[in-house]
Amino acid sequence: MGVSVASLGFPRIGLRRELKTALESYWSGRSDLDALLCTASDLRKINWACQKEHGADIVPSNDFSLYDHVLDISAMLGAVPEAYGWKGRTVDPLTYFAMARGGQKDCAHGVTAGEMTKWFDTNYHYLVPDLRADQIFELSTSKVVDEYREAKAQDIQTRPVLLGPVTYLLLAKIRDEQNINPLGLLQRVLPVYEQVLKQLVAEGADWVQFDEPGLVLDLDDMAREAFQAAYAALTEAAPALKIMLTPYFGALDDNLETALSLPVHGLHLDLIRAPEQLAEVLGKARPDLLLSLGVVDGRNVWRADLSQLLDGLEPAFRARGNLVLAPSCSLLHVPIDLARETDLDPEIGQWLAFAVQKIGELRTLATALEQGRDAVRDVLEASDRAASLRRSSPRIHDLAVQTRLMTVTPELSRRNAAFSTRREEQQARLGLPLFPTTTIGSFPQTPDIRVARAAHAKGVLSDDQYTAFLREETCKAVRWQEEVGLDVLVHGEFERNDMVQYFGEQLSGFVFTKHAWVQSYGSRYVRPPIIFGDVSRPHSMTVEWWRYTQSLTERPVKGMLTGPVTILNWSFVRDDQPRATTCRQIALAIRDEVLDLEVAGAAMIQIDEAALREGLPLRRRDWKSYLDWAVESFRLTASGVADRTQIHTHMCYSEFNDIIVAIAAMDADVISIETARSKMELLDAFVQDAYPAEIGPGVYDIHSPRIPTVGEMAELLRAARVRLEDRQIWVNPDCGLKTRRWPEVEPAIANMVAAARLLRTAVDS
Ligand code: GLN
Ligand code: ZN
Repeated sequence: MGVSVASLGFPRIGLRRELKTALESYWSGRSDLDALLCTASDLRKINWACQKEHGADIVPSNDFSLYDHVLDISAMLGAVPEAYGWKGRTVDPLTYFAMARGGQKDCAHGVTAGEMTKWFDTNYHYLVPDLRADQIFELSTSKVVDEYREAKAQDIQTRPVLLGPVTYLLLAKIRDEQNINPLGLLQRVLPVYEQVLKQLVAEGADWVQFDEPGLVLDLDDMAREAFQAAYAALTEAAPALKIMLTPYFGALDDNLETALSLPVHGLHLDLIRAPEQLAEVLGKARPDLLLSLGVVDGRNVWRADLSQLLDGLEPAFRARGNLVLAPSCSLLHVPIDLARETDLDPEIGQWLAFAVQKIGELRTLATALEQGRDAVRDVLEASDRAASLRRSSPRIHDLAVQTRLMTVTPELSRRNAAFSTRREEQQARLGLPLFPTTTIGSFPQTPDIRVARAAHAKGVLSDDQYTAFLREETCKAVRWQEEVGLDVLVHGEFERNDMVQYFGEQLSGFVFTKHAWVQSYGSRYVRPPIIFGDVSRPHSMTVEWWRYTQSLTERPVKGMLTGPVTILNWSFVRDDQPRATTCRQIALAIRDEVLDLEVAGAAMIQIDEAALREGLPLRRRDWKSYLDWAVESFRLTASGVADRTQIHTHMCYSEFNDIIVAIAAMDADVISIETARSKMELLDAFVQDAYPAEIGPGVYDIHSPRIPTVGEMAELLRAARVRLEDRQIWVNPDCGLKTRRWPEVEPAIANMVAAARLLRTAVDS
C-alpha cells in the first residue's frame, strides 16, 4: 500500500540538444553509427538517473527514440513499405532513417520519406504507419528488450513503454485499399506484441506501460472491440506482466466503460485535461485496479499548485490506499530543466516547472500523502506562495487589457460592408489584373541572413548596421519581384526569425527562453514562447518595414502579420484563464497593428492563420466551440479596417472539407491555401459551400526543391477554373519561401507568373 511516482516518458533530446547534434553529424557523414548510438545510450543513462534523482519510483524505458516512437513500432513490427527495399529480418538504421527522412542522395533509388502528421493535438509530429491490406508483421527490432536490459545493467528496473496496438492502428493508413480499416490488421499485429511481452518477462520486467491515447478519441464499436480483443490477448500472453493502460490528452468519457472493463492491472487518467473523471472512476473502478493519476501538466510549463492538488488527492488516496502519481502524459512535450534558464526573469521563473521540476512536484505530493503535509511543509509553502503571487502579480494582470476586452462589442468583429461591396471598392482601388500573382510572405533565409542575425544577436553588428543590411535585402527582393512581374509584392520577412516569435518578442505578456527546446519532429526542436500574462502591444511592430518597402515600389505591398489563433497554438499558453480569453487579447493586440498598417497606407494586409486547423479539439463535439472563438478572434483582428482595405489570410494545409463553414465565416477578402500536391481537388470544399471570396490555391509545392514548369502550373490553374469563378482566382505558391533557395525560387516564380499570363490570354481570346 502506498503512493509511487511514475514518469510516463522523458524528453529524448538531451539538455544540450545532444541528440540533434549526434543525429545531424551522423546523417552528414561526419560521424559513424557507433558515435550516434553511444550518444543515445548516454542520454538514456542520464535520463534514467535524472528521473530517479528527482524522485520518480517508476521510470520508463523505450520512451527514448532516435527519431519517432511511432516509427519505432513500425520498425518493431517490420512494417516497412516496399519502396525502401528492405529484405526482412532486422530493420537496420539505414532503413529506419530512410523511412524517416527519405533515401540519401548517394542512394541509387531516391525514396521519399514517410508521411508525417501531428501527434494528437500536440506540436510533435510522427510518421504515419504506412501499411498494406495484406501486411505481414514480424518482430524486426529488439529495441524494447535492449533498452530494458540496458537499464537493468545500470541497476534500474524500468517500466517499458510501448505505443499500444490499437492506437498504433488508429493512426495507420492502408495505402493500397483506402477503404479498409487498419484495425482489421489487429490480429496480425498482436502476435508481435505478445512476443515482445514474453521477452520482457524473461528479462525480469514486472510492469509494462501501454500508451493508448486513442482512448480519448471518438471511437466506433469496432475500435472499442479492438481494445477488448487486444488487451485480452496481451494479458493472456504474459500473465506475469502487469499492464498499465495509459490513455492521455483528454477524458475517457464514453470510452470509460471500455477502459474499465479491460483486464489490465492499472489505468492512467489525464486529470489535467479532464479532472472531473476522477470522481466517476473512483466510483466505478475495480478495487484492485491500480490508478495512475496524471495530476501534473505534461503539456505545459506551469508550476503546479501543490496544496490545491492535495485537497483532491487526499480523499482519493484514502479511498484507494494504493496510487500512482504521474504527469498527465509523457514529458516529451515540455522542456527538460528550468535550472538552465539562468537569464529568465526570476519573477516569471518561479511560476514555471519543466520536466525535472514536474517529477519533483510529484515526489512532494507523494510524500505529503504518505507522511502528511507537515513532512513537506517548506515545499508546500513555497508552492502556495508562488501560486498566490501568480494570482495577484501586476506582471500578469493588466487592468487596461481586461477592461478593453470587456468592452468588446460584436460590431468590432464585423466588417462594415458585405464582401461583394468591399470587393468593388478594393478592385477600384487596386486595379489588379485577372489572376493576380503574389507570394505568401517570406523569401529565402540565406546563410548571409542567418550570419547577420547571429552577429546582431551577439552585438557584433550594431542595430543600425543590421537594419541597413536587412533593408538592402528587402530592396533587392522588391527589385526582383518587379522584374519577375509579380502583381502584389511582399517585403520578404528577412527581419523575422520565426512568424510567432517575431511578434511575441514585441508584445507584452510573452517571455522567451534560451534553452527550453521541445521536439517538433526528428531532429527539429522548437522553443515555443510562453504567454504568461495579459497581452498587449506597446508599439507598432511591422509598420516601419511595410512603409520602407512600399516606398520602393508603385505596386501594392501586403502588410504581413501572424494571426491570433496561430500565435496561441504555437505557444505555451497560460492556464489561469480560458484559451479563448488569451486568444482574444492577442486578437486585440494584432488588431492595433492592422489599423496602424492601414493608417500608414497599406491597401492589403495578410493575417496568417497557419495553425488554425491544428487547434481543433480531439473530440468532434468540442469543435464548434473552438471554431467559434477562433473565428471570432480572427474577425476581431481583421474587422477594424475600411471596406477598401483588402484582408488576406493564409493557411498552410489542405483539409478544409470539415471546417469550410468556419473558414468562410472568417470573412477574409482573399485566402491562400496549400493545394499544389492535391491537384486542386480540395477546392471542391470551397465550391460546394459557395465560398464567395477570392482564393489563391497554391500552384507551387514549396516543400520540394523541384521547380514546377509553366505547363504544370497552368494545368493546375485550369483545374482551379473548373471549380472557381475566374474573378476569384489568385496565383501564388503553397506557402512562404523561406526554406527554399533563390536558385529554386527565381525560376519557379518566373514560371508561375508566366502561367498566370497564359491563362489571362486564354480568357481574352
Ligand atoms: N507569411 C509566412 C511566410 O511566408 C507564412 C508562413 C506559414 O504559413 N507557415 O513565411
Ligand atoms: Zn503556409
